[in-house]
Amino acid sequence: MSRLSPFAGRVAVCGVVLAAGLVPLAARSASAGGAVVAIAARPQGDGFWTATSDGGVLPSGAAPNLGSMAGRALAAPIVGLASTVDGNGYWLLGRDGGIFSFGDAAFYGSTGGMRLNQPVVGMAATPTGQGYWFVAADGGIFSFGDAAFYGSTGGLRLNQPIAGMAAAPTGRGYWLVARDGGIFAFGNAPFYGSTGSLQLGAPVVGMTATSDGSGYWFVASDGGIFAYGDAPFAGSAAGAATSGPIVGMAAHPGGGYWLAEASGADFPYGVSPVPGGATQTSCGYVPPTPAYNTSYGFERDPNNGATMRWDPRTTIHYVIDPNGAPTDVEGVVQSAVGTAAQVSGLQFAYDGTYDSAADPGPAGSPLRFRWANLGAGTEGGRADYSWVYTPGGNNELIAAVVNVNTASSLAPDYSNGASEGTLVLHELGHALGLGHASDSSQIMNAVLSPSGPTGYGPGDRDGLWHQGPAAGCLN
Ligand SMILES: [Zn+2]
Repeated sequence: MSRLSPFAGRVAVCGVVLAAGLVPLAARSASAGGAVVAIAARPQGDGFWTATSDGGVLPSGAAPNLGSMAGRALAAPIVGLASTVDGNGYWLLGRDGGIFSFGDAAFYGSTGGMRLNQPVVGMAATPTGQGYWFVAADGGIFSFGDAAFYGSTGGLRLNQPIAGMAAAPTGRGYWLVARDGGIFAFGNAPFYGSTGSLQLGAPVVGMTATSDGSGYWFVASDGGIFAYGDAPFAGSAAGAATSGPIVGMAAHPGGGYWLAEASGADFPYGVSPVPGGATQTSCGYVPPTPAYNTSYGFERDPNNGATMRWDPRTTIHYVIDPNGAPTDVEGVVQSAVGTAAQVSGLQFAYDGTYDSAADPGPAGSPLRFRWANLGAGTEGGRADYSWVYTPGGNNELIAAVVNVNTASSLAPDYSNGASEGTLVLHELGHALGLGHASDSSQIMNAVLSPSGPTGYGPGDRDGLWHQGPAAGCLN
């Protein structure tokens, strides 16, 4: 579907571009840059970041893109990542204990200039966000800001090196986990159990605590999950068709977790990108019901007239071709996707950039954003999409490309009603199965004008909500 020029009063010719085809989806995608080494959830539970060894940061869901060390020379590879308490910042941790702060994350010190006995392997932030701990492979602990020292295994002889750590929600203790599943609890962090006496098939690579600190999980490189205390077992990647080792896990406040694979794939278990107020269903987390508003429409299959949507049980992986796009293209697109995720309850994961000229259809990333010359005129953009007929007789969206016309002049942000941001919101709406709204105060109106909305309106929001798990599973 197409979108209009930034000039008020022009009439849009919305060429319907539909492609009913069968595009098989490959399993999962690989990230751009180096291997993924760490994952951190936003405390709100509406998204997470993964970090790559070369300093890249890949946001997913509503997690904002706040910068990275990608393309910069690092003294040591990245090994850790932690979110600030409000989810608007994060720290990247190097193997040498060097720390890099983004967003509202503050710098409280590092061991970057020290000579360490053992490399740093992980970190945890305090619940205030005003401090953090690092742990080294020998269990040595380094405390900064308001993080206090409660003990370490630095003086012990460990059977296996330390693989990760988690902070108690009180901030007055922490757990360390070794590669053999041994747990070391310090301060007021209770011991709930360990695999220390079991023979594991694969080493433990990370751990995370439940939100109330009455339990914890740890994960092995084969995707095996070990749950203790009140930590529920919500599934594991052990035996799943993974394309590389699992490198870490992050908890969702609802009791689920995400596992991160070195290849860049992520595996959600019992999680949702939706913040508080969501209702868990077997088809996903349904966000709070938006204000009733009928100013929305649906894309329809010309063969049977039926609407179409994505299966809410799948995570929609997406990529961005930055060629020809505004400088902050990742910020523009991720903001749009994050909003759509929060409103609809659909889950998204950002897979990084791609080159649509070299590979128009990266396997495993069915949602693609690109800037292309669609010709001068009134067309601001277009969304192409593909769907299949499910065994249950529904139309399931399986791939979509959002095209932004480089021949149209759009503000490179969300600054007015005719910007790259609002155009991406509009075409993303089509890519999620929304049609045009007759109401000019909605983003899904066929005409984009400088006096138009700068974000999804109430009709857009109600429409998107109906395209997510609120509509049930897609069978
Ligand atoms: Zn349109």
